[in-house]
Amino acid sequence: MTTITEAAPETHAFEADVAKLLHMMVHSVYSDKNVFLRELISNAADACEKLRYEAIADPALLGDDPQPRISLILDPDNRKLTIEDNGIGMTTADMSEALGTIARSGTKAFMDRIAANKEGEGTQLIGQFGVGFYSAFMVAEKVDVVSRRAGSDEAAMWSSDGLGTYTIAPVEVAEAPPRGTRVVLHLMEDAKDFAERFKVERIVKAQSGHVPVPISILEKPDAEPAEIADGAALWTKSKSEVSEDEYTDFYRSVAGQFDKPAITLHYRAEGRQEYSVLAFVPGSKPFDLFDPDRKGRMKLYVRRVFITDEADILPRYLRFVRGLVDSADLPLNMSREMIQESPILSAIQKGVTNRVLSELEKLSGNDVEAYTAIWENFGPVIKEGLYEDYERRESLLGLARFRSTAGDGWRSLKDYVAGMKENQTAIYYAVGTDLDRLKASPQIEGYRARGIEVLLLADQVDSFWVTAGVDHDGKPFKSVTQGAADLSLIPLAEGDATPSVEASEQVTSFIAFAKEILGEAVSDVRASDRLTESAVCLVAPDRGMDRQLEKILAAAGQAPMAAKPVLEVNPRHGLIVKLAALGEDEKTFREDAAHLLLDEAQIADGEHPLDPRAFSARLGRLIERALT
Ligand code: ADP
Ligand code: MG
Repeated sequence: MTTITEAAPETHAFEADVAKLLHMMVHSVYSDKNVFLRELISNAADACEKLRYEAIADPALLGDDPQPRISLILDPDNRKLTIEDNGIGMTTADMSEALGTIARSGTKAFMDRIAANKEGEGTQLIGQFGVGFYSAFMVAEKVDVVSRRAGSDEAAMWSSDGLGTYTIAPVEVAEAPPRGTRVVLHLMEDAKDFAERFKVERIVKAQSGHVPVPISILEKPDAEPAEIADGAALWTKSKSEVSEDEYTDFYRSVAGQFDKPAITLHYRAEGRQEYSVLAFVPGSKPFDLFDPDRKGRMKLYVRRVFITDEADILPRYLRFVRGLVDSADLPLNMSREMIQESPILSAIQKGVTNRVLSELEKLSGNDVEAYTAIWENFGPVIKEGLYEDYERRESLLGLARFRSTAGDGWRSLKDYVAGMKENQTAIYYAVGTDLDRLKASPQIEGYRARGIEVLLLADQVDSFWVTAGVDHDGKPFKSVTQGAADLSLIPLAEGDATPSVEASEQVTSFIAFAKEILGEAVSDVRASDRLTESAVCLVAPDRGMDRQLEKILAAAGQAPMAAKPVLEVNPRHGLIVKLAALGEDEKTFREDAAHLLLDEAQIADGEHPLDPRAFSARLGRLIERALT
């Protein structure tokens, strides 16, 4: 006698992040549940494309079923919706890896963002974000995934109610699709209309009509399949055949976003290399834009076969662009690694990059408002190119827009250069982390008084490119908080007749006195022409690194030893003039004042007084003096 022991399904717990995401899916009163269908169809299409690719090396994988296909099987009587594909399929190991963890870095970023937000905002955020397989639990109380990997003679089933655990168990091959994956959704009561043809067909046509795999619908499990999308690749059509809505739907399916593209770029390159490009600049900012692991999302196809999305078709600083390139020249039977090295690919990379930049340039001239919106979303990323892509630096500088002391709008370098003063030899900037603080910094007073525009650079990336030796139109970029300002050649705007640094004898000797008292705390004390309203400010020595920059780098953990700052004194300031006039018998007071001036400059830069105890003692003496 033999006892047959059925292998019991193994139960596993979801990774903590998945459990959190699932909880959110299920409990959000989410307005647009339809997205789950787009996610599952896009997974099915991905699986078909992966198979097509693997079959290039191993045609036997296709067997007698070479045409990719996605079927939607409705079963209203049993409240079930099934999405089935004949793609690559999953092994048991694939299933626990892909359906038990969060593989996509973007999803993690999204979760962090939700966690950082107030109650309630999360549900709106989901709608702008591709959420993947787990979105099935927005409409299903239980999901079964039955799959058989191409070329394998085993099949398995993954199953979960989305409440913390899932099971995986082997199943008879007869119970699984001959190849590929069947996702069965046991619909919630209030989602039962997702088993109705009218509803499903409408959603699919609206949001997945352009996936490159044909989609059929079966009204009942035993009904005849009816094709509702033909799987024709949108990018192979000519521009005049494609409507704006079709582009938008396609964009949404490749970008996983719900907005509209800000730029749609669809063209065919002919000549030495032949390829089609369909690319989009998103209308809004994805959440993982600054994720260091974030790669570009341009897909590479060869004659309509998806090859890879890791071909780095565009440089990192254009990683927000979504879409694809379909090459007619690359050989299909080349490994992904060899493709990376192919001169054909580098010609494509160059061509597409230049085209994207020229398209941005064109828009910046034709539609300032649209371009500004793009810059607001992606400017900080594009600026990475200023130090990463030396060859295209000039055109990137041309695309760059800046905040500046000349009004509240965006300024281009062209605007800046046009407004330069006579004798002005550099493009001035102030770098920091906060725009308002930059606007108020004492170091720019003298520039403002002379009508010299100062660029206010408050993005983190700014600290990197400004130190990369960038110049424009033969003019260097120069920090307003570094080195001597030398503004004396440019007159004050209001016809003020005293622009000089010339200090009275008394002031000069007070400055010398302050220098002696402050000793090692500063590298110099000197008269300044960069100040008009404030009495003092700190700047970096001529050869030192910009002070704000030093701080930003220090915060990023890569600080060089900070150079001692220079204390600049406004020789025309009433306070300074009066201090300078005090007699020798006021020695203690003059000493205190010298220290307090340094502390004041320090505070204006957002720092602490050097010695807080001494600072309060001096302040105390000062108040006492004022009271007596
Ligand atoms: P993404 O599609 O961005 O990778 P998903 O959450 O949508 O994220 O899917 C997770 C993973 O599950 C996929 O990467 C894939 O490995 C696997 N998967 C999901 N659906 C299928 C399917 N129909 N066929 C094969 N693999 C699938
Ligand atoms: Mg997916």
